Amino acid sequence: MEKQLRKVLRVIEPEPVIEGAGVRLKRSIATAALDNLDPFLLFDHFGSKNPADYIKGFPMHPHRGIETVTYMIQGVVDHRDSIGNAGSIASGDVQWMTSGGGIMHEEMPRAGDDEMIGFQLWVNLPARLKMCRPRYQNIVADDIPQITGSDGVKIKLIAGELADIRGPVTEIEADPTYLDVTVPPDTIYQQPVEKGHTAFAYVFEGQGLFGHEGALKTIGHPRLVEFGDGGFVVIKTTDSHVRFLLISGRPLNEPIARHGPFVMNTREEIQQALQDLRNGTFVMK
Ligand code: FE
Repeated sequence: MEKQLRKVLRVIEPEPVIEGAGVRLKRSIATAALDNLDPFLLFDHFGSKNPADYIKGFPMHPHRGIETVTYMIQGVVDHRDSIGNAGSIASGDVQWMTSGGGIMHEEMPRAGDDEMIGFQLWVNLPARLKMCRPRYQNIVADDIPQITGSDGVKIKLIAGELADIRGPVTEIEADPTYLDVTVPPDTIYQQPVEKGHTAFAYVFEGQGLFGHEGALKTIGHPRLVEFGDGGFVVIKTTDSHVRFLLISGRPLNEPIARHGPFVMNTREEIQQALQDLRNGTFVMK
């Protein structure tokens, strides 16, 4: 298994969804086709040149039991939350927010002339951490190492380890790797991925060949590629470059009870979250 190539299990075409106060986005995890990829609970792609598609944003809303990870490629999102953080997530920045037992936050994209491009991933928390104190890691673009290989492959290392370099997001229970990879034309890119971890790629520019000899598939953008288990993945390019996120993490194998912004283990815990919200006892400091 160690040296085994991970096969392509599924290729998911994102669904158009309207979320928040009216934001148009493309969702590929947390849909009818794909409920979750344990420990990943949701994956959204915002991409629009028209501010009307995103300007209404995500006004104050609660979260419990999860982590939300926002990565902006281009554009700015202003945010504030109930533990006293306020600021902006600008082009190339990452916000890794651990809701724990209860946070309220607001995420408001700023209108700009350029296309807004960004992603939000939800990572599950194990039962013993679902009610932990909320915390938050804000990583600015300059603190994300960019590694360029001799083959011209460019990797932004957000979380995980690569060539003895450690990404800036640390101490996350799912032990995630989060890479933003650009492979130039006519290149073979091989990347070790921890065996036993769930892994997927999200292609958002260009196209590449995914899979294994005899079963190579050309995959364009936007598509989510779910990998089977193994020790590494291979992506090849021909005449186009390809850019994708490569995300992996340790599965929790716990029951999932979800209701909007809350993800717990049981229905009773969801009822409790709704009751805490009504009683004004939801927010933790
Ligand atoms: Fe949120």
